[in-house]
Amino acid sequence: MTAKVYFLPLTDGLSAGEQARALGRLYEASGADSAVDGKDFVAIKLHVGEKKNTTHVKPELIKALVERVKAKGGLPFLTETSTLYKGERENAVKHLLHAHRHGFGVDQVGAPFIMADGLTGNTEYEVSINGELHQSVKVAREIMSADALLVVSHPTGHVAAGLGACIKNLGMGLASRMGKLRQHSAMLPEVMEDKCRYCQKCIRWCPQDAIIEKGGRAYIQTEKCIGCGECLAVCRFDAVKYDWGAESGFMQRSMAEHAYGAVKEKPGKCFYINVLVDMTKDCDCFNSCQPKLIPDIGLLASGDPVAIDKATLDITARVHGKTLAEISYARHDAMIQIAHAEKIGMGSLTYELVQVE
Ligand code: SF4
Ligand code: SF4
Repeated sequence: MTAKVYFLPLTDGLSAGEQARALGRLYEASGADSAVDGKDFVAIKLHVGEKKNTTHVKPELIKALVERVKAKGGLPFLTETSTLYKGERENAVKHLLHAHRHGFGVDQVGAPFIMADGLTGNTEYEVSINGELHQSVKVAREIMSADALLVVSHPTGHVAAGLGACIKNLGMGLASRMGKLRQHSAMLPEVMEDKCRYCQKCIRWCPQDAIIEKGGRAYIQTEKCIGCGECLAVCRFDAVKYDWGAESGFMQRSMAEHAYGAVKEKPGKCFYINVLVDMTKDCDCFNSCQPKLIPDIGLLASGDPVAIDKATLDITARVHGKTLAEISYARHDAMIQIAHAEKIGMGSLTYELVQVE
């Protein structure tokens, strides 16, 4: 089946207010409203960015969605889950205070923030999916309670998956702690002794304090490691090794299956928005202010999570010669997650691009 993906082009460097007005036009033109009925609890899935991240989707855009959901009689709330790694979003209390600091308080966007996976990331439900890797997946509990889901994703490169966009926002972003661990279970790195200069950067950066000194080199304690890949990203000497072929592929397919679990029980009640603005090499979980990798492109909206991520790759390739994933992490094939999502019945790789002014 051919999906529709709505595309509203933006010029580079527009203010958050201009982006929000454009998003309002796209919301109306794309029929996003059809996913929302009066009195629905509408979960708006977002990512507020780690402490030093400045390129996450801005609160003005979320506020524009909140207003439209309210106008339809829905009850919107912002939602997220706790991270596996230590940081500003590792539990509900820290996450909500941090969200407020980044402009996502109820007084700022007009809707409360409700963590989908409870206080510490363990509030979950199990969804049967009959996937290729998992018979069932563990998803954050309050996603089940919501009647409708609006998913706002900020496409970036990703150190382990090549692309972080809608499927990753659903799969990793709406999994409970157990669900996340399962997706990362194959991602265990190793330090190559002959290449390590013991600069200690990975030790300072590791969010789990999993790296120690051993024999004058960095050493990863696998029992503490959560496979986040940050040591690999920060090592300037290529001393951290992953078996990318096997591990990225497993993670991407597992992520797609968890994404399917998050939306499977809401047919016709999910809508997806990808904000192709301030795109960076690494995702918004990185605690740093990253330079923009390519000029801004625009906004995409679709009722199909597979088609919207495929369109994200296609449009970045059309405008910049290579896909966002290829520009960021050429060693990964980011199509694995998208193709797997289609294979298990989540959506369609075939789409029609509808331009919105
Ligand atoms: S960042 Fe790289 S070179 Fe530095 S200690 Fe870690 S593994 Fe060794
Ligand atoms: S992948 Fe690297 S940075 Fe992440 S927890 Fe494991 S050792 Fe630490």
